[in-house]
Amino acid sequence: MASKLIFELGAPGRQAVGLPELDTPMQELHELLPDVRLRDAAPRLPEVDPLELVRHYTRISVLNHHIEKGFYPLGSCTMKANPPVNEALAGLDGFTSPHPLAPEKLVQGTLKLLAALEEMLIEICGLAAVTLQPAAGAHGELTGLLVIRAYHEMHGSPRKRVIIPDSAHGTNPASASLVGYETLEIRSTQDGLVDIEALGAALDEETAVFMLTNPNTVGLFEKNITKIQRMVHDVGALLYMDGANMNALLGITRPGDMGFDLVHLNLHKTFSTPHGGGGPGSGPLAVSAELEPFLPVPRLKEAADGSIAWDWDRPRSIGKVITWWGQFGVLVRAYAYLRALGAQGLKEVGEAAILNANYLMALLSDAFELPYQGPCMHEFVLSGNRQKRMGVRTLDMAKRLLDKGVHAPTIYFPLIVSECLMIEPSETESRQSIEGFAEALLEVAQEAEHDPDLVRNAPHTTPVGRLDETRAVRQLDLSFFSGDR
Ligand SMILES: *Cc1c(COP(=O)(O)O)cnc(C)c1O
Repeated sequence: MASKLIFELGAPGRQAVGLPELDTPMQELHELLPDVRLRDAAPRLPEVDPLELVRHYTRISVLNHHIEKGFYPLGSCTMKANPPVNEALAGLDGFTSPHPLAPEKLVQGTLKLLAALEEMLIEICGLAAVTLQPAAGAHGELTGLLVIRAYHEMHGSPRKRVIIPDSAHGTNPASASLVGYETLEIRSTQDGLVDIEALGAALDEETAVFMLTNPNTVGLFEKNITKIQRMVHDVGALLYMDGANMNALLGITRPGDMGFDLVHLNLHKTFSTPHGGGGPGSGPLAVSAELEPFLPVPRLKEAADGSIAWDWDRPRSIGKVITWWGQFGVLVRAYAYLRALGAQGLKEVGEAAILNANYLMALLSDAFELPYQGPCMHEFVLSGNRQKRMGVRTLDMAKRLLDKGVHAPTIYFPLIVSECLMIEPSETESRQSIEGFAEALLEVAQEAEHDPDLVRNAPHTTPVGRLDETRAVRQLDLSFFSGDR
């Protein structure tokens, strides 16, 4: 029963909705619709009653993991719980119904929300201007690199190279290549930080930008940032911050104050949009005053009478980077989140995220190798090397965690830590749930020692076992009747 799909549950004639009788004569339908749009036969739809329909969705809603079901410590992804009230606000008629081409004077409220959000993000980043157009973090990187290229071109040459630490997210070198730059990877130190000597050796007049994640992807704050920014700027290069880890800095410090020239934010990580599964995201880009002229068109501009309009007259702009104006629903959620928290609340988010991660790291540090000693920021990495020597890999432990009702942490990233587990509890988890997760992972470590096969064959309780993950992505098939739509 539990595994039956909705088509199998159906019986002819059952219906979950009541539709009125068709009262348009067929003749008229034929005139209104082109022939190719008309079916010969009724579509094959599931026929179920309303209760079975609700049960179906309730049942499948718990097959997959989600934050409403359990702990979700996916490092670097900030899978925090997002306030449902923000969903309700983003769904308000006034926000969902305006047409993107509606005359500006009819949508002053939505434009004002965008302008206010820009102001708040400017303040949070300590920079001069923000574009809300990019639709994801990677898209923010791409936009930033186009801006960087335009800036260097104006100064005579686009330059050749982007420097990236070996701990960086894969999107960083990918974005650099898309814009036509070569990438140069520099190693990290034993302590997990940027190697200053390697950076010094790499920097030259052909360096366009140094892209740095801070706190970095092993969860450490780059404490030499002041020195780094001086070195980078001394060769006329720019300093880009990958702001995916902004959750750790909120209200505590700002990219602009650290000397970054530009930063993207992942609103779907830090600022309250549920994510995963490729849903809509948003990656606004904040830049210094020097870079502002290159931002995408159109820009929001306030007129003398206080009304807001789109400004297209920006000769040095890199152009448009999205079809319309940005991922509006995500922007509404971020606005609501920021207004609800205020400056003090935002600081508490950052502090609690850091406290939670350090507490969890302390609970786990006896059972696992700790590649970098703390304190950490909002996340930390462990190594499964000790368990690997007993024949159990990090992948096995991650699968075994699923049996215990929690999502696995990020694994095998960053690449510089062998058998890596990257754990981010976020500020929205309670002390109890953090202790519960620690207990689950410590149990897995025990099992690795005493019953390794149990771990190697996990998961045992999920609807499907181990998938061929490459095939699952490349040949995804979501339809019930294969080949028959
Ligand atoms: C998530 C992430 C990105 C990419 O962001 P998307 O919104 O997924 O495109 C880039 N860098 C880091 C460090 C990240 O964690």
